[in-house]
Amino acid sequence: METVTLTINDQPITVSQDTTIWEAADSVGITIPTLCHSPKLRPVAVCRVCAVEVENSRTMPAACIRQVEEGMVVHTNTEKVQRARKTLVELLLSEHPSPCSQHKTTQDCELELLGEQMEITAPRFNSTEMPSSPQPRPLDESSPVIAVDLNACILCDRCIRACDEVQVNNVIGRAKKGHNTHIAFDTDVPMGESTCVSCGECMAACPTGALVNKPITENLGTDEKTVDSVCPYCGVGCGVTYHVQDNKIAQVAGRDDGHTEGRLCVKGRYGYDYSHHPQRLTVPLIRKDEAYPKEALSADFKTYREFRRSLRSPEWNERIRDTFREASWDEALDLTARRLVDMKKANGSEALAGFGSAKVTNEEAYLFQKLVRVVFGTNNVDHCTRLCHASSVAALMETIGSGAVSNIFQEALDTDVIFVIGSNTNDNHPVAATYFKQAAQQGVTLIVLDPRRPPMADHADYYVRFKPGTDVALLNGLMHVILRDGLHDDAFIRDRTENFESLKELVNSYDPETTAKITGIPADLIEKVARVYGRAGDAMIFWGMGISQHTTGTDNARCLISLCLLTGHIGRHGNGLHPLRGQNNVQGASDVGLIPMALPGYQSVTDDAIRSKFEDAWGVTLDPNPGLTVVEIMHSVLDGEIKAMLMMGENPFLSDPNMNKVRKALQTMEFLAVQDIFLTETAEFADVILPASTAAEKTGTYVNTNRMVQLGRQAITPPGAARIDGDILIDLANRMLALEDSDRSWSYDSPEDVWNEIVPLTPIFEGITYDDMRERTMIWPGNQQVIFTDTFPLGRGKFVPAQFAPADELPDPEYPFVLNTGRILQHWHTGTMTRRTKALDELAPEPFVEISPQDLESLGATEGGWLRVSSRRGTITLRSKTSTRVSNGSVFIPFHFKEAAANLLTNDALDPFGKIPEFKFCAIKVEKAVTPE
Ligand code: SF4
Repeated sequence: METVTLTINDQPITVSQDTTIWEAADSVGITIPTLCHSPKLRPVAVCRVCAVEVENSRTMPAACIRQVEEGMVVHTNTEKVQRARKTLVELLLSEHPSPCSQHKTTQDCELELLGEQMEITAPRFNSTEMPSSPQPRPLDESSPVIAVDLNACILCDRCIRACDEVQVNNVIGRAKKGHNTHIAFDTDVPMGESTCVSCGECMAACPTGALVNKPITENLGTDEKTVDSVCPYCGVGCGVTYHVQDNKIAQVAGRDDGHTEGRLCVKGRYGYDYSHHPQRLTVPLIRKDEAYPKEALSADFKTYREFRRSLRSPEWNERIRDTFREASWDEALDLTARRLVDMKKANGSEALAGFGSAKVTNEEAYLFQKLVRVVFGTNNVDHCTRLCHASSVAALMETIGSGAVSNIFQEALDTDVIFVIGSNTNDNHPVAATYFKQAAQQGVTLIVLDPRRPPMADHADYYVRFKPGTDVALLNGLMHVILRDGLHDDAFIRDRTENFESLKELVNSYDPETTAKITGIPADLIEKVARVYGRAGDAMIFWGMGISQHTTGTDNARCLISLCLLTGHIGRHGNGLHPLRGQNNVQGASDVGLIPMALPGYQSVTDDAIRSKFEDAWGVTLDPNPGLTVVEIMHSVLDGEIKAMLMMGENPFLSDPNMNKVRKALQTMEFLAVQDIFLTETAEFADVILPASTAAEKTGTYVNTNRMVQLGRQAITPPGAARIDGDILIDLANRMLALEDSDRSWSYDSPEDVWNEIVPLTPIFEGITYDDMRERTMIWPGNQQVIFTDTFPLGRGKFVPAQFAPADELPDPEYPFVLNTGRILQHWHTGTMTRRTKALDELAPEPFVEISPQDLESLGATEGGWLRVSSRRGTITLRSKTSTRVSNGSVFIPFHFKEAAANLLTNDALDPFGKIPEFKFCAIKVEKAVTPE
């Protein structure tokens, strides 16, 4: 880019020729005031407050849009400029309710601050005296999270641009004309009735009190402190800044950390008051003698209304007291340690197991797996990665030797084709979705493939709706066309892959017509999509749990990897594979060894040399056999082999498939200790409950879907006697070691101390220190954004061809529908946190079954009426929601809601390689029902 030299306020400045005057001034510290402009948004120059004088120019151009020119002479603060600016600000203030709600609370309304700087105490223009002046507009309080005061709006359009161009939701526009012009949601309906997804980007962009956050907690005074941290929900790992008052999170702002640029979704911005919920566990609990045999306490709640009331009521804590008694930490931890040690002595280490959590920090996940491996003496340790991307990781390890994503998701902006399959990215990874939508807006070709039409399809060039469970056939069909038309990359296949001939032979039988018959996709669409991906200069594949949560999940991922290897779309910027990770730290928890087959850094437990390295470091002999996985552990409990468990932050009662089986397993277990923040449905079966901490209550590191290692910082202290998870684990380990007369003990001064133990044992983290992370986000390995550039960890990438096989349980006359389960935008997993968050609960209060209008009509049922949904494993009753997102014969049920738990219905058949259950497909019947109340 060529440069130009200009003068601003007599200062010579050289900048690239595409720079605006505002940017050039800003680059040398000259402030030009503005209201409509934000460096994050496209400049539009509607407020004109940034007007400047340019010598030899007839007009006063707006600095935010006027590009620099060679030899330009600019004056930003002449008397003429000041007079013009002041008049504009006075005019705006004349219609502004000073102080507006923003200026009243946080004193940072940009218009009022500008007025103060210009010493405008009483605007000369009084709008109320003008005959055409608008009537005051009523406040719009319809959104649970944002208050709208159009009286304070200055029509700067920042909210419109933030909604359209940053989050790409296209909800806000302008309505009416002249003095009646105002911003409007959809067709000028109240915000709460519009299609707004409550991401808060408009509110964050608004310079005045026109769009302001409703407070997360009651309190909204002055911040005691702000703390930079990481969102505790999904694997995108957005940067946040907590605003803390009275040891409570009062507000949360997006942090521009160079990763997600301050963007957040509704959970990341408004989903925090669960930390202060009256039902938090604040003291250790021990089951009373009379509370055996174990039962689920909340099974008492038979009705929706009663259950929903129970979520909010502090009385729920009273019910706990009938079953559990309060205990000191000494008593609870001594009892836990003694029962686990006794069980180990009597039945061997293999009678013990642990479920860790993808919500805790890397340091805590590391300590948990170390506790199970070193003190319990077994590799029976796993976490919810098994329910999420285990099959993707199995396929990636087999074909290229690493489960890591090859590129960061932001590279979607720099590629030619984005291929998104089995991912409802808008709901599950909302901020990642904003980059895909932005890319599509900027001309990148977007292909979306999913049996249930995701909102992303609205932005796609091609949407492919295939029959559920036919992914392998579809992908083989695409590869067939690519090979037939010679669109494969011969050089890449020759130099970097192996086993190509067997792939070629297998996909030969998946011609478009055959594939069309299996998948239900027109043959010409298969051809088109194959050609678009095959011909792309650069292309990236993203996938979600629609690929992985099948009994063919590993085959699905193998085919995606083959598609990528076949075309050589990997190893370069804008080319690669990216399974979008679910939980905030599912990547990190796996990285630090919270999986049964690998020690930290994916180092196999069966490798003698690797085990010996860890044995030296940990001073113990390690189990050489891979442990059992999540669902296998539950099966083993039912078989009477695993007798005691520690569960930290997992809720298998709701998250695992086939809930009745899980219930039996939890009742059968001889000893269960649960470490959590609430009395979860799983904790109701515990013998001992250890009250733990939320993300905002601790410091530690997290790894997001991009392999970025980020530091989360403590903002508030845990309530009552609740403790930091890592501290509980260290304490428990020491008590167990003492009971075993071990001469070892654990001693760590801080999470950083634990990190410093992890890094030398875990090569992928080499060189990453807390000091680095205090300054910036790091990416493993070696801060490389793109990996596999020259080689794969296995050397060559291996084609592993897969033949199409149907799902485990197909529809039949008795169970004619296919059930698909998943998340919705407002809730997280088993709802433990989000259903105790006021705004999120208000936005999405109830379970529902999404069904096509034709199917609903054929059942003789009505929209919003009750439907009874049954599989061979159970029955639930919930309201219907019609949608064309699902095809006829398929329904979707979110799995967050205990009162209509989708996992009562799901099939626990496992993918043979990744051991992941088939959450995305089982046969059900749907019938009209009467109200469950
Ligand atoms: Fe949090 Fe994910 Fe939303 Fe970002 S996209 S704010 S990480 S839930």
